[in-house]
Amino acid sequence: MIDARELLRRRWVRGGILAAFAAGLWMVAVDWSWFMEDCPDCGLHRDVVQYRVFAVPIQERFIDEEYLLQKVARDLGVPCLHPRMSASRFHKHRWWGLIYCAAPCWNGTWYLASESDWYGPNESARVFALAKEEPALPAEFSRRLLQDVQYWDLPGDREFFRSVLDRADVRSPDAGLAAEAVTSP
Ligand SMILES: [Zn+2]
Ligand SMILES: [Zn+2]
Repeated sequence: MIDARELLRRRWVRGGILAAFAAGLWMVAVDWSWFMEDCPDCGLHRDVVQYRVFAVPIQERFIDEEYLLQKVARDLGVPCLHPRMSASRFHKHRWWGLIYCAAPCWNGTWYLASESDWYGPNESARVFALAKEEPALPAEFSRRLLQDVQYWDLPGDREFFRSVLDRADVRSPDAGLAAEAVTSP
């Protein structure tokens, strides 16, 4: 014969096991993850931030940092679509149960802000106008700088990029900065 106190005790034990199981499941199933991707063609750096359940993203946010190359390419009408970017995906942090960061947890600075902040609406409009003046330019730009090679590999292509900026009459307030923006991805 089980008395009322024993029944209550068993209920507590069962409740405790259930709570522990639920907590364990939550820790394993739910996480907040931060990934990083880099496009080898245009240099775009993307942070991907996700809430996940069993590694399936249920909410996702992108934070993109573009290089000058992609800003100009978009205004010419031939933006890079980053076909090879996902291969570079790197898992930087995983917060298990949204509580505990581990496996992976990589600290440190991977990326510094883009140096092409001077490229604004005026510059954008001039590049757009140049594409109208030189209808063959966008295709050549895309082929030489975004498709065949990584554009910073070939000095001739950097020269070509610089000449496009010159023809559009686009330059940074600090010429040295513009040269830097063209030469380093
Ligand atoms: Zn790209
Ligand atoms: Zn971490």
